[in-house]
Amino acid sequence: MHGDAPVLAGDRQLVYKANHASNLTLRSGQDGMVRKNAYAGQGLMSAARVLRAVSSVILLGLALAVPGPLGASETATDDPLLAFSARIAGDDARTRVVVDFDGEPQFSVHYVAAPERIIIDLPATAFGFPAHDLAARGLFKDIRYGAMGEGSARMVLTAIRPVKLVLAEVQKNEGQGYRLVLDAEMTTKEDFAERVKAQTWVQSAALGVKSMQDMTGTATVDAANDGIFTIAVDAGHGGIDAGAAGLRTKTPEKDITLAFAKVLADKLNAQSGVKAFLTRRNDTFLSLSERVTLARQGGADLFISLHADTLGQKNIRGATVYTLSDTASDRMAAALAARENLSDELAGYSIDSGPPEVADILLDLARRETQAFSISLARRVVGSFDGQIGLINNPHRAAGFQVLRAPDIPSILLELGFLSNEEDEKLLLDEAWRDKVATLLVDAVIRYRAQSVAGGG
Ligand SMILES: [Zn+2]
Repeated sequence: MHGDAPVLAGDRQLVYKANHASNLTLRSGQDGMVRKNAYAGQGLMSAARVLRAVSSVILLGLALAVPGPLGASETATDDPLLAFSARIAGDDARTRVVVDFDGEPQFSVHYVAAPERIIIDLPATAFGFPAHDLAARGLFKDIRYGAMGEGSARMVLTAIRPVKLVLAEVQKNEGQGYRLVLDAEMTTKEDFAERVKAQTWVQSAALGVKSMQDMTGTATVDAANDGIFTIAVDAGHGGIDAGAAGLRTKTPEKDITLAFAKVLADKLNAQSGVKAFLTRRNDTFLSLSERVTLARQGGADLFISLHADTLGQKNIRGATVYTLSDTASDRMAAALAARENLSDELAGYSIDSGPPEVADILLDLARRETQAFSISLARRVVGSFDGQIGLINNPHRAAGFQVLRAPDIPSILLELGFLSNEEDEKLLLDEAWRDKVATLLVDAVIRYRAQSVAGGG
């Protein structure tokens, strides 16, 4: 029934002041980037609750005072707003839409199923930006906007998969006007269905309007800061992207990383106060951005990506720990990162993530702090491996790995060894060796945790 809601029909909406919402939505960073701790969904939950209260008060007020067309008193008294520019950036896991208005827009959000859509209702708006500025991309395959009759306008964003808004708010521009910022993220089918179900499209018989019950549906409470130390264990490659292959056995890298990831997650989960989860549990393809998004959605405090690549020089062997850097520490690191970053292209995904201006907003702010933690973890891992298992010379290296780009989660990429080296290949396939390496990694994580707790991080 919800799926049949008249999305483009001219139904009137109860609107609320968007600034009620923006005061309540948790924000951090100058452009409202949602960071890990501000992410826990509770902010959205309470915002939704207050909005419900606000809606009913407005509803009541209107019932008593406004005999004419609803919403008119709120929205249609002046000239229409002008949406003078717009932009969109992101990928198949996370997409940001920004629309600039000359005045402060009130807005409401709905989710509609089959196909998955997000509906943004606005007061009367003239859309004055070129269509290609808001061409569908990332999570959205179709974006439409236009007038909905007197006093209202609507945007309809049709998604490629179940989707949720983790941020929807109006922010004041430094220069002219206001911007509506929508941050969409992939979500599960179940979560999307919940959002559709939780919102009320009920017609109020007396008023002939629908009440706008909440802004974001029932925000699922993402893993909060509950004292549990959470680690996302990422088995490199998968599905169509097999990664490297063993020199002798031809075993694909994706199998080795998955087997190791399972052992590591089990060992981490055996520790008290620690929870580990896998970004993939089986032989499926994940884009690099999906890996990062899954880590964030799982509330990860750490992200560990596991690999076992090949090198041209077959004599090189041993483990390497990588952290993110825009300038590679050495040529080998640069080449490896370039190859790993090809994963998305191999599977036919675009790695173009949009105009740098917007992409930077998503990546930049928390980076520096996070970087210090990533390096600290890398050192712990090297320290734990040292003398116990083979390490490459200069075992802590850095390069521009896409999968390490979570701005808010300390991340390392671990090359367990090289499938191009016969001795390493043997070890990588050896259960006892994997067990030992996983144990040493757990030690490093536990020490890192103790240190970061002591340091207040
Ligand atoms: Zn790899």
